[in-house]
Amino acid sequence: MTNLEIYQFNCRPDNFGLLVHDPEIGVTASIDTPDGDAINQALEEKGWTLSHILLTHHHYDHVDGNAALKKKWGAVIVGNEADAARLPEIDLTVKCGSPFQFGAHEVRFIDTPGHTIGHVAIHFAEQKLLFTGDALFSLGCGRLFEGSARQMLQSLNTLAALPDETVVYCGHEYTQSNAAFALSVDPENEQLRARANEIDQLRAKGLPTLPTTIGAEKATNPFLRAGDAGIRAVLGMADADDVAVFAEIRQRKDSF
Ligand SMILES: [Zn+2]
Repeated sequence: MTNLEIYQFNCRPDNFGLLVHDPEIGVTASIDTPDGDAINQALEEKGWTLSHILLTHHHYDHVDGNAALKKKWGAVIVGNEADAARLPEIDLTVKCGSPFQFGAHEVRFIDTPGHTIGHVAIHFAEQKLLFTGDALFSLGCGRLFEGSARQMLQSLNTLAALPDETVVYCGHEYTQSNAAFALSVDPENEQLRARANEIDQLRAKGLPTLPTTIGAEKATNPFLRAGDAGIRAVLGMADADDVAVFAEIRQRKDSF
C-alpha cells in the first residue's frame, strides 16, 4: 500500500485547506471545502485532479466550495448519513463506523457530536491519519453549538483512544490562542510550556502548527485532560466528575 500525500494550505482567515492524494491510483480528496478558489489553486499547484470531497460537518466554512468544485471536477461528495440533509450537493452518504473506499484505501467516519450533532472525524486507520474538523483542535476543541459537554467529551475520548502516533489534521489554525488558554488551566505542564514556545516560533515564521498527534494532544490539550490532578487543582474541582471538569474548561475557554 502506498503512502498518501497530504497538502495543507491556508483558506479564509484561519481555516485549513487539506488535500489527500494517492499517487499510485491518482485520486485526490479535499477534506471539507472552505474556499473553492483556494482549493482549485492548490490542485493546480500540485497537478492533482479532484475526485472526492469528504465532509466533517455542515458549517458554511466547511462546505462553501462544494457546488463549484463538484461542477468543475465531478468530484463525489461523501458525508455522514445522519446529517445528509444539511450537507450541500452530497452524493454518497455513509454511516459512522462503516468503511468506504478512497482509491485503494479504506476510510471510516467516526461519530464526534458536540460542535454539531452530525459532526464526524475522518479516519484512515491503516495510515494512522485522522482529520478532526472542528471537533478536536491542537490544544483545543470546537465550541458546543449543538451538542452537550457530555457528548463532546465522549467524542474526544473516542479520538484519544486511537494510537498515540496517529497524525491529526484539523479545520482551523487556532493553536496559538488555544495555547494561551491551556497554560491558564494547566500552568505546571512542562510539555505544554515547551509546545507553547514551539508554537510561538512557528507562528512568528508564518508556519502552520498542524499536524499534531494524538499522543501530543493527550499530553498537552486540556480538553483531553479532564482527569488530570493539576488541572483539577487549578479549577478547584478535585473530586468532580470528568464531564463537570470538561464543561468548566469549555466554559472558561468561551470567555477567555
Ligand atoms: Zn464548525
